[in-house]
Amino acid sequence: MRVTIDFEKCDSHAVCALTAPKIFWVDDHGYTQFDPAPDEAERENAVRAAQQCPAQAIQIVENREAGCGRASRQQGSNGPQR
Ligand code: SF4
Repeated sequence: MRVTIDFEKCDSHAVCALTAPKIFWVDDHGYTQFDPAPDEAERENAVRAAQQCPAQAIQIVENREAGCGRASRQQGSNGPQR
């Protein structure tokens, strides 16, 4: 799972930081920050944040679509052990 924010749309409502504080937070300057590759255990919170974002600025992309290296490590664990 990869998370992105479209900062062209983001209005800094910080709803995401309240909904999924392990993924989104507001820095000391008032800017929204986020972890682009959160733990899979945070999926439900990520989806909820995306649904509740007033600007619809949050996108969740699966690792396969993003070409993320983490996906290949996960896939490797399903293969035979030699
Ligand atoms: S809830 Fe949406 S608009 Fe508000 S800070 Fe988060 S991403 Fe930006």
